[in-house]
Amino acid sequence: MTTFEPHVEDGEPVVTYELRGPVALVTVNRPKYTNAQNSKVTYALDAAFVRAVDDDAVKVIVLAGAGKHFSGGHDIGTPGRDIDESFERKAVIWWDHTDAQGVDSRYARESEVYLGMCRRWREIPKPMIAMVQGACIAGGLMLAWSCDFVVASEDAFFSDPVVRMNIPGVEYFAHPWVMNPRAAKEFLYTGDRFSAQRAHALGMVNHVVPRAELEGTVFAMAERIAQMPRLGLALAKKAINQAEDLQGLRVGMDSVFGLHHAAHAHNAEVSTDSLAGLDARAMAASNKAAAAAPAPATGSGPATASGTATSSGLAATSGAAPASDATTASDSAASRA
Ligand code: ZN
Repeated sequence: MTTFEPHVEDGEPVVTYELRGPVALVTVNRPKYTNAQNSKVTYALDAAFVRAVDDDAVKVIVLAGAGKHFSGGHDIGTPGRDIDESFERKAVIWWDHTDAQGVDSRYARESEVYLGMCRRWREIPKPMIAMVQGACIAGGLMLAWSCDFVVASEDAFFSDPVVRMNIPGVEYFAHPWVMNPRAAKEFLYTGDRFSAQRAHALGMVNHVVPRAELEGTVFAMAERIAQMPRLGLALAKKAINQAEDLQGLRVGMDSVFGLHHAAHAHNAEVSTDSLAGLDARAMAASNKAAAAAPAPATGSGPATASGTATSSGLAATSGAAPASDATTASDSAASRA
């Protein structure tokens, strides 16, 4: 296993890299904060993916999250939140955001670390499998959706609760393409969790397996895929990606990115910040309140019924990070949008 200096937090690498035969296992490693994604994680992931692409021995990349949850989203409140730090830009050619203000800053940063990075990763010429357990919320969706497909454990759930912040979905707006438009509307309008089973029924998830079988299933698939020639896989990936783009994914994301930034700007104009004042703590409280409201049976599968959510410490229908895993500063890592 390899770590990426200086992508280290409290002595631990924020992303780990492990080679298992023809498979590179790339793992977000902030389990204490439900793998909340800060810029440090973003650039560590990017470095890991570059390494995997450069290594001829790697045929398939598996993206995972350490601990109970895949990812609680973008970092909106952990001690490692680093939105005001400057990193060498990799995804787009734009100026540094740290000495700019308002939209000038926000648009620059999110073009790079959110939309740009996810698009860059989607274009990685080797197959990528997201291995998802537990929470996959908002920014976590962006990681999973950048992969070619998703294998989830039965306890996995997905949500994008950012409409609560007036925002029409996370920056990588794949919602109507990874599920159907009506489901995407329900997903956004309610902020509800969709269970792994429901996500599977909607075509967003390829396979759902018991938690104990998740890793074995993913690696068996990866090793099977690894038997195919590298070029064939790369071209097949590009073919499907191009088909999605012809169905409007790329220009759709561009247009929604504008709406997304209109919402950020509105919030900054009329509220205390671009997130409508919903910091990690407030988001967790909102999610708890939403969880108390009755939801239709179809909105959550058996693994995410309210009883299960309570017993596992998960706060909400729309998925705050579990209190048991987080500090008070980050009791929701969900959805810095
Ligand atoms: Zn945003």
